[in-house]
Amino acid sequence: MAHPEFTLLGDAVWLDFVNSARGRALTPPDLLPDAAAFTRWAHAQRLMQLDGGVPYPVIRGFRQHLTVLAEALDAGCLAPAGAIAAINGVLAGSTGNHRLTRVSGEWRLQFAPAKALAPLEAIARSAATTLADPAVVVRRCAGQTCSLFFVDASPSQSRRWCTAELCGTNLRIERRRGPLR
Ligand SMILES: [Zn+2]
Repeated sequence: MAHPEFTLLGDAVWLDFVNSARGRALTPPDLLPDAAAFTRWAHAQRLMQLDGGVPYPVIRGFRQHLTVLAEALDAGCLAPAGAIAAINGVLAGSTGNHRLTRVSGEWRLQFAPAKALAPLEAIARSAATTLADPAVVVRRCAGQTCSLFFVDASPSQSRRWCTAELCGTNLRIERRRGPLR
């Protein structure tokens, strides 16, 4: 079900955050133009708003770092040092402990936060989880005017569109009409 205000692909919270300034049109509006919009977005993502209102420039700056990161990953480049530093900076504020957990018959080392994560922490952890998993690929939608990023965790890594019904359909219609001139 599409959210009325935000584009939430639901792949990875950090990419939904990056995508808030992107879209399926050529010049999409910034859907997080102020702190109030970020609060609504965090609610839509079911993220607790516990960081006491991080100043809006910090939120915007963090999104910019993650945008550069998504662009680098899509281009097959190394993650930029600035983005890693920004993620680590937010993660440094988390308190909790590490814990061994059995997942699908295998032991995993997981971090258990001492308290509910603030939205920026949850976003930073989402980005860190993507980066730390070599099986997950970040890709930009192949839709002609679409600039949305998604994660492709499919075994064949063949996903091309943010939403096949929206961006993939356009491409098929254009193909039926013949080649673009
Ligand atoms: Zn798309």
